[in-house]
Amino acid sequence: MRSATVIGAGIGGLAAAVGLHRTGWRVAVVEQAAEISAIGAGITLWPNALRALEALGFGARVRELGKPQESAGVRTSSGRWLGRLDGALIERKLGRPMLGVRRAQLHQLLLAALPADSLHTGVRVTAVGRDGSVPGLDLPPADLVIGADGINSQVRAQYWPGAPIPRYTGFAAWRGICERREHTDIAVSWGRGAEFGVVPLVDGQLYWYTAMSAPEDARNPDEHAFLQERLGSWHSPIPQLIDATPPESLLRNDIRYLGGPLESYVDGNVALLGDAAHAMTPHLGQGGCQALEDAVVLAASCARYEDLTDALAHYDAERRPRTQQIARASYLAGRFGPFLANPVAVALRDTAARLAPSGAAIKTFMWVSSWTPSLVEGLRA
Ligand SMILES: Cc1cc2nc3c(=O)[nH]c(=O)nc-3n(C[C@H](O)[C@H](O)[C@H](O)COP(=O)(O)OP(=O)(O)OC[C@H]3O[C@@H](n4cnc5c(N)ncnc54)[C@H](O)[C@@H]3O)c2cc1C
Repeated sequence: MRSATVIGAGIGGLAAAVGLHRTGWRVAVVEQAAEISAIGAGITLWPNALRALEALGFGARVRELGKPQESAGVRTSSGRWLGRLDGALIERKLGRPMLGVRRAQLHQLLLAALPADSLHTGVRVTAVGRDGSVPGLDLPPADLVIGADGINSQVRAQYWPGAPIPRYTGFAAWRGICERREHTDIAVSWGRGAEFGVVPLVDGQLYWYTAMSAPEDARNPDEHAFLQERLGSWHSPIPQLIDATPPESLLRNDIRYLGGPLESYVDGNVALLGDAAHAMTPHLGQGGCQALEDAVVLAASCARYEDLTDALAHYDAERRPRTQQIARASYLAGRFGPFLANPVAVALRDTAARLAPSGAAIKTFMWVSSWTPSLVEGLRA
């Protein structure tokens, strides 16, 4: 039986472990957190991510957990619509909807598909051998090592010592979940150097996120009061959503991205995936979706090719160009979208977005969303 050690139990690591487990691999997943739980409130799953989850056998279940989005649009901070995409049209063209999902439920779904004894929590990996060994843990030897340990990947630091390091964008993000009091579609509102996005979830809940410029690693004494003040003049229902969010549930993170593309996602029998390989800014809502794509392609390649070198070469060739292109597009979407702060540039941005009904945005959306996994017949074996 072939075996893999996966470092990191985020969306990417869990999905890769599930894909390998389903094709007969023995997997060991090592996670630093004492309990495997999702951080990040909610997540938007685009049709490409839905296809990845379908390939892993979760299609029906994830549709139950997710709220299909009726439309997606961009507004100004005063509420004026700059552009809108019709959700039904997206679903007709792409065969799948965009879904808003609670991260905790997505995590639980993936976790439940793994044998309980494959998970090793509360172990912060400082080094991993090519045989999958981790100091302090008694793991069986592994053929494959997967670094799925996020943007500050230890596996990347160990095997890619010259790799670019994470960079701070100059912006921090806050996220929360609250009750949805009125009908809302997925939408993002752009201000001057700030944005606020809403994503309806099932069961009358709503996930929201906001990003604005802030010094690196800074914290406000009361983040909830800070947001109430900073966004109090934005259009309805933004102030009401913040009011309705329990202050203790607010999350704040600095937005970072990998400061340059890696030359390979593979080193011998070690492969990187997800944020460890290509941490990107969140402006296209694709970091997690790409981690799911990576996981499916990696597992399908391992099922298809007897020789691990061939499998990993296929994985690298298929994943690197696409993810790096999306990471670049996401960075530019932030710089020339919500993060513009100069009033003239903001006025030009808003006019352009209103007059040219998101031609480039639709093209990017369709390109990213129409991805279909290859070699998946191996995953069904
Ligand atoms: C504000 C914001 C909004 C976002 N919205 C979306 C969205 O709508 N859609 C989307 O697709 N993406 C979104 N993303 C991006 C998405 O959250 C990430 O890309 C995704 O979570 C990456 O998954 P991952 O499994 O690669 O890494 P992670 O989720 O970072 O998981 C890595 C895991 O490895 C563990 N780990 C780390 N180091 C070690 C170690 N040394 N030893 C053991 N374990 C370790 C961590 O504890 C963690 O569990 C957003 C990001 C932000 C900041």
